[in-house]
Amino acid sequence: MDCIFCKIAAGEIPATVVYEDELVKAFRDLEPQAPEHVLIIPKKHVGSLLELGEEDKDLAAHILADVVPKLAKELGVAEKGFRIVCNTGEEGGQTVHHLHVHLLGGRSMQWPPG
Ligand code: 5GP
Ligand code: ZN
Repeated sequence: MDCIFCKIAAGEIPATVVYEDELVKAFRDLEPQAPEHVLIIPKKHVGSLLELGEEDKDLAAHILADVVPKLAKELGVAEKGFRIVCNTGEEGGQTVHHLHVHLLGGRSMQWPPG
């Protein structure tokens, strides 16, 4: 499958990796939208949130409950606050069809999002 994030997960395409374990990889976004902008991806291909299966619940919890807070602290945005975004589908603005969670911080976020 020709998936750019699978290639980053496999180390076939370079990325600035900020965290990695057996299940996930986190790396800096190529076009950062905030002073801190990293993408957290599962190493296995999952197309979007809609494709998470019953067997992926531990993976989803790991990203949300372990990796996001750990990275937010390490990147220095936990105290002031940050935002996570998981664009899903066409109207959700998803452009890469491999599940990824954006972690953005280092500036005040606006609401509503564009
Ligand atoms: P989406 O729009 O699907 O929610 O987010 C995709 C994100 O991936 C975008 O913010 C885009 O800048 C980022 N991106 C796309 N291709 C690459 C790449 O090859 N390397 C990195 N580091 N980020 C990428
Ligand atoms: Zn993929």
